[in-house]
Amino acid sequence: MLSFNQIKEDLVSANRILAQHHVVDSFGHVSIRHPTNPDHFLLSRARAPNCVEFSDIMEFTHEGEIVGHEAGKPYSERFIHGAVYAARPDVMAVVHNHSPNVVPFTVQTKKKMRPIMHMCAPIGTDIPTWDISHKFGATNLLVTSYEMGQDLAETLGQRTVALMRGHGSVVAGKSLRDVVFTSIYMEINADMLIKAYQLGEGDVIAMSDEEVAKNAGGRAGFTYERGWENWCRLVDRPYFPMDWNMGPGFSKTDK
Ligand SMILES: [Zn+2]
Repeated sequence: MLSFNQIKEDLVSANRILAQHHVVDSFGHVSIRHPTNPDHFLLSRARAPNCVEFSDIMEFTHEGEIVGHEAGKPYSERFIHGAVYAARPDVMAVVHNHSPNVVPFTVQTKKKMRPIMHMCAPIGTDIPTWDISHKFGATNLLVTSYEMGQDLAETLGQRTVALMRGHGSVVAGKSLRDVVFTSIYMEINADMLIKAYQLGEGDVIAMSDEEVAKNAGGRAGFTYERGWENWCRLVDRPYFPMDWNMGPGFSKTDK
């Protein structure tokens, strides 16, 4: 069991890791549900993820109001996070990104984002695209109100990922490690999928629903720890080990 400060340190690490893997650049963000108050979430002040420090972590209500310590200006798109936490009690962490190889799939209507390699299975086979203009007309494409966040969360539904037209994506996870894992492998999957489409003649064979389901159940604490320890090392951040046993439905090995 991690302490509250270790949980916040892990959130700092997640910011650095996502930046190191080009899921976020100077923009994009990652949050966690508050460990003891499920109606609140933790998110950095508006700062490039690679620069985020422990003292930048702030607490918010689902509606995006600041609670307590005000480290600085909040992200204008913090509503994405609160709306997903409000709609999905199972979600413990959220990433919003402009992942560069993912964005082309937000504007492509025929060639869909699909998982093509086993590590990328967590993105799922059913990935919707949210178009802000359908409800809000011509905007700057940013999610700057709770109402916009709710509309996005509705499109996400019970899924792991929703693409955002001309913008990026939102990724929901059962833990911080889970959401970082999915976000990194979605960017890798998108890069590989673009290459597969460019190979020319022939169809691209994506993973099936059944294959994705079997893969998700087999993803274990061991797998998350193996990735997380390595990613912490890559960004020179402390690694706090967690239990491999993730409960029913999860393997205890990496099989
Ligand atoms: Zn954005």
